[in-house]
Amino acid sequence: MKPSQKVPCPHCKKMTFFNDNPYRPFCSERCKLIDLGQWAEGDYRIAGQPLSDIDLPDTETLQEEE
Ligand SMILES: [Zn+2]
Repeated sequence: MKPSQKVPCPHCKKMTFFNDNPYRPFCSERCKLIDLGQWAEGDYRIAGQPLSDIDLPDTETLQEEE
């Protein structure tokens, strides 16, 4: 077992514990998501929202309901 390490968050450079950190090496889920570029356009959603809840603007409805 290695002792607790601190690593700089790749996004905000804040020193954060590597161990006991579910978002490592990021300091938080927000930094992780932002750094991954998933929410860089200001469309960040609160954690816990299911991904399937996101509306896709280009979705075409090809199935006609009877
Ligand atoms: Zn950070």
